[in-house]
Amino acid sequence: MLITYLLLLMSGNSIRFLRPDDYEILLSMKIICIGRNYVEHAKELNNPLPEEPIFFMKSENALLPKRHPFYIPDFTKDLHYECELVLKICKLGKHIPEKFADTYFDEIGIGIDFTARDLQQKCKDKGLPWEMAKSWDFSAPVGKFLPKSHFDKLDSIDFSLTKNMEVVQKGNSSLMIFSFSTIIAYVSRFVTLKQGDLIFTGTPAGVGPVKSGDLLEAYIADLKLLSLKVS
Ligand code: MG
Repeated sequence: MLITYLLLLMSGNSIRFLRPDDYEILLSMKIICIGRNYVEHAKELNNPLPEEPIFFMKSENALLPKRHPFYIPDFTKDLHYECELVLKICKLGKHIPEKFADTYFDEIGIGIDFTARDLQQKCKDKGLPWEMAKSWDFSAPVGKFLPKSHFDKLDSIDFSLTKNMEVVQKGNSSLMIFSFSTIIAYVSRFVTLKQGDLIFTGTPAGVGPVKSGDLLEAYIADLKLLSLKVS
């Protein structure tokens, strides 16, 4: 990967040596999230259906470390879960052709794109970016990942979220407006994808609030891959 990245740096008009900052870039990862990728979810929030993928970023601080407690932050009174299939990127890519895009991820997992819905609504009303509602520390718990080879068909993956043992969200990758491959091809036009990056692929309908004491459990098919107690 390092050699590929060196070649990338040399492929522009000028050649430059790696700087310490570049090493940090190589070691870090990012979280890319797709918005409004399920028709019924777009409708439940009164959003128009997108003609092209909508994406935003969560910082790497958003990743909830394993065994770290999850606390409701004090700046929101309306914290929502959004359960999503998550792709783990396995190699460096820029301007990835859609027909090769599925070779750029090797694992699929499940995560929660926690959203301070009250702050997001304020941002949307003012036409401002969403980061304060989406990208705060520990806003992106992810569960165990499964190898891509686990799945017979990538375009028919069932997943679900329960809250206090009751199913609140059910989705299937066949219902995505934009497929995994379309998302990767589109995002990589703007942002170089790197090994370890995560892509949250959008949430189905049924998003809703959490309160202290709630237990969220996320499944791919009938495998429980994430369990989270809200504090
Ligand atoms: Mg989301």
